[in-house]
Amino acid sequence: MTYLMPTYARQPISFVRGEGSYLYTADGTAYFDALTGIAVCGLGHCHPDISAAISEQASTLIHTSNLFGVDWQEKAGEMLCKAAGMDEVFFANSGAEANECALKLARLYAHQQGKARPKVVVMENSFHGRTLLSVSATANPKARAGFFTLDDDFVRVPFNDAQAVMALSDDADICAVLVEPIQGEGGLHTPSDGYLEELAKICDDNNWLLMLDEVQTGNGRTGKYFAYQHSTITPDVLTTAKGLGNGFPIGACMVRGKAVGLFGAGSHGSTYGGTPLGSRVVCAVYELLDEALMQNAQAQGEAIRTAILQKFATQGISVRGRGMMIGFAMPDTVDLSNAVNLARDEHHLLINVTGGNVIRLLPALNLSKADTQVLIDKLAAVFAQLFAQSPR
Ligand SMILES: *Cc1c(COP(=O)(O)O)cnc(C)c1O
Repeated sequence: MTYLMPTYARQPISFVRGEGSYLYTADGTAYFDALTGIAVCGLGHCHPDISAAISEQASTLIHTSNLFGVDWQEKAGEMLCKAAGMDEVFFANSGAEANECALKLARLYAHQQGKARPKVVVMENSFHGRTLLSVSATANPKARAGFFTLDDDFVRVPFNDAQAVMALSDDADICAVLVEPIQGEGGLHTPSDGYLEELAKICDDNNWLLMLDEVQTGNGRTGKYFAYQHSTITPDVLTTAKGLGNGFPIGACMVRGKAVGLFGAGSHGSTYGGTPLGSRVVCAVYELLDEALMQNAQAQGEAIRTAILQKFATQGISVRGRGMMIGFAMPDTVDLSNAVNLARDEHHLLINVTGGNVIRLLPALNLSKADTQVLIDKLAAVFAQLFAQSPR
């Protein structure tokens, strides 16, 4: 008997403790967590510095409201904006809220331009969250069904197709493009080199905002602070959450250039946005998130890809993603319906499947060489079994 609404297809297991890349059940059994709470605990579970910052701040000052100055919020804002190459930030409490903030900014921007019916360009296979506006921007039919989504507010085009966006240049209602630099929930689709540059040019030419959803790709996940930093562009609006708090719920919407100055006092807000506690956690995360750590994410991510490809390339596996955002696209002949259970129950490895046929890993950014090898060995054993059980 449960009192919880049945919104999740939960696996029949729960954990009572976490440390680094490992989660433990009540009987002490260790599981290798290659998902880190869906790209959230990028520094590993219960990183001692994060836990210390939380407990110290929890016994000093948790919340005062945004009626007053919040020193830790000022500091977190500076650290985050400097790392992200952005001018200003609004702190929210989740990814969906960060995107809601971005979409509201786009509407204000359109209003400023005298547009009557603003529309934002979004992508096929996109995921932007579950508030009504962010779920309307999301592609997944399961997330949208029955909610009377606000479809007049969006135009959807294929991902990684700058021409399709260019073709909308004549539509005077469009005010912004919202896109993930690498699609996370949609199957780890990584666009071709030059895609973001082309989008930035189209947005510039048409005076649209380029808004990047880096809720999943941000905070070191791809080996840079933000995935767009692998390109030559800078977005007008940048959202993030997940890894930002290493498990503490916090999100952020950042702006620069033409997106600065749209909000004034009273035009947006959040009771919990940027509390002393949440902000202190962001500072602690960014204190740890340095070049060496992000290089480790690149190197260990590459080691995992290379090792698995070496073993299974002849079986038709291909790799997706970047840094510690790792996808293995499996050939159609491989049945993945029991992959998650098999990995968990027989190999004590936590993974998931997105986009139908992609095994997704989101390991800790600070994975040691030894843990990288453990992960490769477990994964290779799972893959060998998956191939063995599928007809060729
Ligand atoms: C997870 C995710 C969101 C939603 O974040 P929540 O914190 O669950 O609201 C939005 N966009 C992307 C790209 C995500 O991966």
